Amino acid sequence: MYIFFLATGLAVTLFLFFAALVSYFEHENRAVRFFLGSAFVTILIYGLLLISVKPLPELLLWVMVGLPVGLAILLILPIDLTARHIKPSPKPNFRFDERDIMFSRRLLKPGSKRFEDYYRAHPREKELDDVWRKKPGLLSPKARFYDPVWFNAADSSFETVERMHPFVDGEMSPETINLDPESITKFLKDWLLRSGAHSVGVTELQEYHWYSHLGRQEPYGAPVEAEHRFALAFTVEMNKDMVGYAPFAPTVLESADQYLRAGILAVKVAALIRKLGYPARAHIDGNYRIICPLVARDAGLGEIGRMGLLMTPELGPRVRIGVITTDLPLKVDGYSPDKTMIDFCLQCSKCADNCPSKAIPFGDRQWDHNVLRWKINPEACYTYWTISGTDCARCIQVCPYSHPDNLLHGLVRKAVRRNSLARTLAVKMDDVVYGRKPVLRNIPLSFGNKAYRENDNKIETK
Ligand code: SF4
Ligand code: SF4
Repeated sequence: MYIFFLATGLAVTLFLFFAALVSYFEHENRAVRFFLGSAFVTILIYGLLLISVKPLPELLLWVMVGLPVGLAILLILPIDLTARHIKPSPKPNFRFDERDIMFSRRLLKPGSKRFEDYYRAHPREKELDDVWRKKPGLLSPKARFYDPVWFNAADSSFETVERMHPFVDGEMSPETINLDPESITKFLKDWLLRSGAHSVGVTELQEYHWYSHLGRQEPYGAPVEAEHRFALAFTVEMNKDMVGYAPFAPTVLESADQYLRAGILAVKVAALIRKLGYPARAHIDGNYRIICPLVARDAGLGEIGRMGLLMTPELGPRVRIGVITTDLPLKVDGYSPDKTMIDFCLQCSKCADNCPSKAIPFGDRQWDHNVLRWKINPEACYTYWTISGTDCARCIQVCPYSHPDNLLHGLVRKAVRRNSLARTLAVKMDDVVYGRKPVLRNIPLSFGNKAYRENDNKIETK
């Protein structure tokens, strides 16, 4: 029995040192301290018992071996007592109007006929939008977190995406090449993955995937035609370190860079499909006909979480999405609601706790039309952006699903998907190891001569 006692103590200690090493490379200082401290406590307990109690009572040996081994086994067994009771949301039975989203409303020019017409029909939105219209604005030099280099770098990437808008669609080859759906789907997926996508999936398009009317492109207000049958959706990873500086300038540069990367991939794949003789359109930042998170979810890439974003199993919400719609016959991936993720969000609420504008709701999902979901307050969120000048992303940064896709977090993710106790423990441990409200990190290279402090994020968004 002594050998099992020693082996258990050694295994626990090695695991904790391994976790500390991984955390060191992830620049998670609090986690490094936690795991190193726990490793030394483990050495102390097993070492002291070994030295001071001779011989060790049989019962104590069993306890010291049985507790860690038993807990590890308990956490990996497929025992789910909570997720199975979760009700999946019905699919939307309506289409969203793109004119109603914040990114369309921000383009309305005060005094213009479009502006007057929209707000005459939406007086409630007028009142809310008047608040952020008085603030400096996204990437504005007057914004709270302005930095001349970081902000202009982000602006350059956004501008480059905008320059790609004319290439989202185009003429297709007059000659159609017959292709086996399975083979061409595999080719396109492999190509996207090799080009930098993190995950790729295919869905058959539904009415609710399409916006009902255009809000950001001309002709403004034109009905959107549900023109294609299939969608190829993919995610690109946002750099963990860059998101780690949320809500400061690096996070908005990272968003812009990943919109650009997703845009390049979508445009080039759509171009290939048209060369093969099939219609295809890339949906890229500022030029969408479809609602990316819904399409990506139905393509099997993840679930919609509390913060209203797509949560992928490996990177959580720390991704951006690109979509190509087409009539090229593709092999469709299945989607089944991920109740374990919804269950995790029900217990977690860390994003809601850290949101500086209190835009993310606490509590359970609510009915919105015929959909069961967490509905964030887009005006509060956007108002914060117009004050900070960045797209914030504090919710993405603190989400426990946003940890890197490596062995350590992979083990936690596997357990969380199989076991309800593991979910509860993971929610609690994430707070202990990384902090319920992780400290803000100063930006790595500031050109604005400003060191940010905790209080800088306390912004009144009313
Ligand atoms: S922070 Fe927690 S509640 Fe929010 S989306 Fe992530 S897992 Fe869900
Ligand atoms: S981006 Fe920031 S303000 Fe908006 S919901 Fe997330 S945490 Fe809240």
